[in-house]
Amino acid sequence: MSQYLSIIPQTPLHIGGIKPNFRFLLTQDIIPGSLIRGCLSEYLIRQGNKSKIKEYIKETKFGFFYPSNSPYNFPFPFPLTSLSCKIMSGFKPKNHGVFDIIIPMIAYTELKKFGAKFPIPFIFKCKECGSKMDKYITGYYIFENKYKKIEVSKISQTKCALSRGRKTTQQGMLYSITGINPIVKIDGDRGGIVFIGKISGANDKIDFIMESLNEIGIGGFTTRGFGNILAEKIEINIENLKNRIDSFNRKLNEIWKLMYSIVLNKNNKNIPEEPNSCYFTVDLLSPAILNENNIPTLKLQINLDDIILKPIFFSTNHIFIGGWSTAWGLPKRTTYAAKIGSVYVFKTNKEEENINKVLESLEEKGIGAKRDEGYGEILICHPFHKEVIPV
Ligand SMILES: [Zn+2]
Repeated sequence: MSQYLSIIPQTPLHIGGIKPNFRFLLTQDIIPGSLIRGCLSEYLIRQGNKSKIKEYIKETKFGFFYPSNSPYNFPFPFPLTSLSCKIMSGFKPKNHGVFDIIIPMIAYTELKKFGAKFPIPFIFKCKECGSKMDKYITGYYIFENKYKKIEVSKISQTKCALSRGRKTTQQGMLYSITGINPIVKIDGDRGGIVFIGKISGANDKIDFIMESLNEIGIGGFTTRGFGNILAEKIEINIENLKNRIDSFNRKLNEIWKLMYSIVLNKNNKNIPEEPNSCYFTVDLLSPAILNENNIPTLKLQINLDDIILKPIFFSTNHIFIGGWSTAWGLPKRTTYAAKIGSVYVFKTNKEEENINKVLESLEEKGIGAKRDEGYGEILICHPFHKEVIPV
């Protein structure tokens, strides 16, 4: 089974690859699953149970944890297709609003494929200031009566390196550690930061993982005042898959008809007035390590009832992933992955029931490699795609 947990930092956290030759140690805004797994391993080692590590991690999936302001607000990553204006980027009313381009994009490109001619190019202007809406919004948001962007604040601490032999400060060996502050800013208001994520596995294993998190702490420098946390079980409700697909297609239908209304060559009877297929998106909640014939790729293909489906459109970017194994004290191999927020659009004419079943299991299992460390976590039809007007 899957269990959502909240992780509340009691001290700053240091999360990220520790590079021995760097004086400045940067931190990430999210807690990767490998760090939770590393913490479990360390706890078992400290208890003299190193031989049990395999048994504990074998059938357990360690998800990524994302920043929020409360254990009740699930933080969604902005899809890579969400845009804002350059002048005042961010949610209304403080800024000029954020919207998602994918539904208008599907309608426009599909209609064009059918031969539609449009009187205007496909660009969006900000209604407030007239500038182009082309700034990509990244990070996380929550919905609490309205949309709010999550901003993780960082703090820096300069430390002195100690000489191992003499236990005195070593000359010229100051280093700076950046950490995530336990404070989060939402709409300019400060509050406590909470990380939310999912662990899948047997109940007793999940309880033991919570115990190890609470005992060991998270990230680097736990012996130097970083990484103390409080982990608890929580309930998270995300709209069910069928409703997400239905409302996505309803919105697409509405936008398609609007676009059709301005098509110049309506006499071309090949151009459908409304969509004649089911469209859905696969959205990345964590980075995905994808391969095609053993070659790394950023393009996702899915198996829908024994048919390999290729995306009709996708928006992605790559990131390099590596890291540090706290359990083994060694750097991990660097590889590349599709970024969080990547969007893949698919189109099908299969029976709705069959599609939903396949997609439900895809959502449960995830995609690509290293799923046990939380990579390849997906959401079908991210709810933000329906925001086609700046919010
Ligand atoms: Zn504007």
